[in-house]
Parts: sequence; C-alpha cells; structure tokens
Amino acid sequence: MKKTVVTPGETLAYVEEFEVKGSAYSVDYRYLSSVLGVAAFDEKTHIAVVRPLKDPAIPPPGSVAYCQVAGKGRRAYQLRCFAVEGQRGPVDLKYAFTGVLPYFFADGELGIGDYIRAKVVSTYGPPLVVSIRGATYGSVLSRCPHCGSVLKRRGMALYCPNCSTEVRRKIAVGHYTA
Ligand SMILES: [Zn+2]
Repeated sequence: MKKTVVTPGETLAYVEEFEVKGSAYSVDYRYLSSVLGVAAFDEKTHIAVVRPLKDPAIPPPGSVAYCQVAGKGRRAYQLRCFAVEGQRGPVDLKYAFTGVLPYFFADGELGIGDYIRAKVVSTYGPPLVVSIRGATYGSVLSRCPHCGSVLKRRGMALYCPNCSTEVRRKIAVGHYTA
C-alpha cells in the first residue's frame, strides 16, 4: 500500500484508476483531496482512502531532505521526498511528501529519477520547497538516461560504465554514492 501526504485541492487519482473514499471529492473524472492528510492507495482493490492529518511532522526549514526527481515543470523540478538526514544518516519519513525545487535554487542540471540531497527552505507545506545550492547538495545517485545503469562520477561529470554516455549533473560533493 502506497501512502503519501496530500494537500487540499491536490489531484489524487482519475476515476478509472481508483475509487477514493474519505476526505475527497470528484471533479471532471478526477478525485481531489479536501484536506491536508494522508492518502493510502490499495493497488489491489483500486480503492484509496484519505484521512486528515493533525500533525504532519513536516521537515522544518534548514533540515536536509532526500528526494527523487519525479518530473520537470516550467519553473521547478517536481520531487517525491522520502527521508530526512538524522544524526547517523538518512531516516525514512513516515509518509512521503511532494516537493518542489525551483530552477532558481538548482544551480545545475538534474535528471528525472535522480536521487538528491537537498535543503528544506519552506516554512510550511507540503509541498516542501527545497534548494540544492551549495557544494554538498545535489544528486547522490543518477541513472543513465539511455540504459538505466547507475552513473559513475568523473570529476564534476557523470558517465555510464555500460554505454559511455556522459551527462552533466549538479552533484552533492561527498555524498554521491557510486
Ligand atoms: Zn548507459
């Protein structure tokens, strides 16, 4: 079962994908959340349930989040944030948060699917607004856009050991894992 934090007005699913129960309403063949809450999607029964959240435990500004790049919008990368940095490394969040990384805060290229280390700059949310300005923020793991292999680091660039593709990425210095 997939669980995610949702905001009021956020699209949860199309009616042909899921039936959504709880704190949700439908408009134009889509279900939208009516609350800040948690949506639980049951892939087997195609039923989702939205429950309001009293304490979403949103990572505070200044904390370090780990997110995956889910898409590229007009002004920002869209992210799914799943962990925060604790004393001894990343700690999984109870619920994944949607995040946005404005291009203004990117200082370099990222690819869809990249795992990134980012600093939370929003004071409330979700979506979490994050920045990867600064040497230790950026990609911690990227895959080849052509063959899907994990890219290796070569200076400030990344290359594919399988098909030799080279890509530019904003790399988190000291945190890139391959
Ligand atoms: Zn490749």
